[in-house]
Amino acid sequence: MADERTEGGGRSMGGDRDAGGTRGVARSADDVGRRLRREAAIAAVGLGIVILAVAAFSTPWRVLAAGPPDPARDFTAAQIARAQAFDAATTLPSYLSLALTIIIAGLLVATPAGARAVGWLRGPWWLRVILGVVVITALTELIRLPVGMWFETLLRDFGLSTQDWASWAGDRLKNVGVGAAIVCLMLVVLVALARRVRRWWIPAAVGAFVLTVVASFVYPVVFEPLFNDFTSMRQGPLRENLLAMAERDGVPVEDVLVADASRRTTALNAYVSGFGATRRIVVYDTLLKAPQREVELVVAHELGHAKHDDVLSGTLIGGLGAGLGAVLLFLVFDPVRRRAGVTSIADPRAVGAVMGLMSLSTLLMGPAENVVSRHIEARADVHALDLTRDPATFIQMQKRLAVTNISDLSPDAVEYVLYASHPTSPERIAMARAWAKLNGVPVP
Ligand SMILES: [Zn+2]
Repeated sequence: MADERTEGGGRSMGGDRDAGGTRGVARSADDVGRRLRREAAIAAVGLGIVILAVAAFSTPWRVLAAGPPDPARDFTAAQIARAQAFDAATTLPSYLSLALTIIIAGLLVATPAGARAVGWLRGPWWLRVILGVVVITALTELIRLPVGMWFETLLRDFGLSTQDWASWAGDRLKNVGVGAAIVCLMLVVLVALARRVRRWWIPAAVGAFVLTVVASFVYPVVFEPLFNDFTSMRQGPLRENLLAMAERDGVPVEDVLVADASRRTTALNAYVSGFGATRRIVVYDTLLKAPQREVELVVAHELGHAKHDDVLSGTLIGGLGAGLGAVLLFLVFDPVRRRAGVTSIADPRAVGAVMGLMSLSTLLMGPAENVVSRHIEARADVHALDLTRDPATFIQMQKRLAVTNISDLSPDAVEYVLYASHPTSPERIAMARAWAKLNGVPVP
């Protein structure tokens, strides 16, 4: 080795100055690249530690210890059998959909498939980025369509869907369109930055954070109305009771909105979205057929989310995660670039590879998000119990939700890790019993 180096040096000194000079430039470009990557790696580690710390400290790890869940205690054999039948029917399309996500993202990241799919596009770079996102989205959607139709057929077989194919397709198109529009915005900004700034990961990370926060803030007023109509809950004792309960809880709520979810589903649900000026509590119109006391229990749970600012803290952690994603993109894109057959991230043909990486990271983050979410949901349940002191109605409500939505009463470990954003209904019921015992209320 030492000899070779001397020999090389000797040759270079022997007069071939151009070659030596180029090698020097290449080496210093390499050094710069290494330094830039080292800076980004330090930022990634720092940001990762901040995210872990914020998530670790803000997650209510120990909400309330409960006994083991026991579906047979609260659900009939027929109800359990129906839940098992639905789970059995949806397992294959669920895993097929997961496999397709991994395969498509894998092809986009590890092969030149994405670059080939959009390589024929012509025009200015920003137009090729936008059209590239449209082409990749359309191809992906085409591949996924049969599984989506399979799933919808099952929802209809089990009486969960109230849609015809036209409204189903309309929903799906809107969903895909909104997703593609957001990705277009992200990628046009990303490519513009990569074309101008060497350390593009810094403005990209800030931009990803800001976009996440803004999108979450405007979500209830910009995106939700695309899919549902919202009306104020009509005057009457239910509305009065809900607003009085919110006031008692110290959560300022001016209105409870009702979404026309029945145009799509028979499932029961309620949620809080937005924060600050856009925060709202929404109940599905399907839920209003339940006894009033049960609706109050559902809203009491949502007040728990509002009181703890769960949407805001979720948004902030999500924004930091998006920022970390931008830094990691800078770090991993060099090896990906060669496999994906593109020159750099500034190359409009790179949109497929970036979309594949985004899809993989979303998938990988899912289980961690579910762990945090399950604890936050448990805290909202305890809040509902503290506020209403009515575990009996809480359990009635959980049973109604589980039976109507055909929830999985005892998911296997993989399903739990991948899909369970909430504790299971039997877990929630067990917790209500533990709450009753702890608070000296008769155990239902
Ligand atoms: Zn919740």
